[in-house]
Amino acid sequence: MLNGKAAVVTGSTSGIGLGIARELAGAGADVMLNGFGDAGAIEQLRADLAKEFGVQVAYSGADMSKPAEVAGMVEQAAAAFGKLDILVNNAGIQHTARVQDFPLDRWDAIIAINLTAAFVATRAALPGMLARGWGRIINVASTHGLVASAEKSAYVASKHGVVGLTKVVALETATTGVTCNAICPGWVLTPLVQKQIDARSAAQGMSVDQAKFELLAEKQPSHEFVTPDQLGALAVFLCSDAASQLRGQALAMDGGWTAQ
Ligand code: NAD
Repeated sequence: MLNGKAAVVTGSTSGIGLGIARELAGAGADVMLNGFGDAGAIEQLRADLAKEFGVQVAYSGADMSKPAEVAGMVEQAAAAFGKLDILVNNAGIQHTARVQDFPLDRWDAIIAINLTAAFVATRAALPGMLARGWGRIINVASTHGLVASAEKSAYVASKHGVVGLTKVVALETATTGVTCNAICPGWVLTPLVQKQIDARSAAQGMSVDQAKFELLAEKQPSHEFVTPDQLGALAVFLCSDAASQLRGQALAMDGGWTAQ
């Protein structure tokens, strides 16, 4: 379905971004990976994906906290593939603390990576998409783009910001072949969430399994994690013709979290 399309997925060396990159490659798109990690392991991942799906897979080590590098990544993708059709703004970080204890440098890093990078990448990618008359911008927000939780001021502010940015880009592109939507996952068992499970287990003196169960039970009625490949399948759907009038939406895939 996506043969001949070129995609960038930010923060795709792990977790949800990797799941989305895999599903886009599986649907036939050429993909540029981005994110941190061991250089050898990333090269292996790049080569394995290219071989498994028979598509071109490139890599950018751009740091999403640095706007010039974010814009450079979009240019690198356009140079590698000849164009950029699909932009998935996924890279994100978390820090938990009550507002009065929240370090300013963590606030700034979360806003830069989770929100500003999505704006900068979109700004860089849009002219080419509009010129070719087709594009898909998919922002990985969160249930925390729709509702809040304590101790996540910067994260919740950044993700509500991503949902707002999504709506504005959708309105500005409404009469074109470019769409912009947000995906709002509930709990997904990735390194980002494993850190929160480990912290809960240490703070409350409970086993990691018990901490995992309580984390889910507190918010997610299904008591099951959403998986990166399920989110990847939703991203592929958003790239389909069937989704061409799906614009400016924040789609929750959250085991019922935000139905409560
Ligand atoms: P993860 O920690 O598994 O992966 C994050 C990815 O971003 C990695 O590839 C990492 O290298 C990359 N990254 C981090 N900082 C970067 C930077 N400065 N520049 C470039 N790349 C950087 O996290 P995840 O859980 O897969 O999260 C991915 C996205 O999904 C985030 O935006 C997160 O907020 C969102 N999300 C996650 C969950 C969840 O339950 N895991 C739920 C809702 C939303």
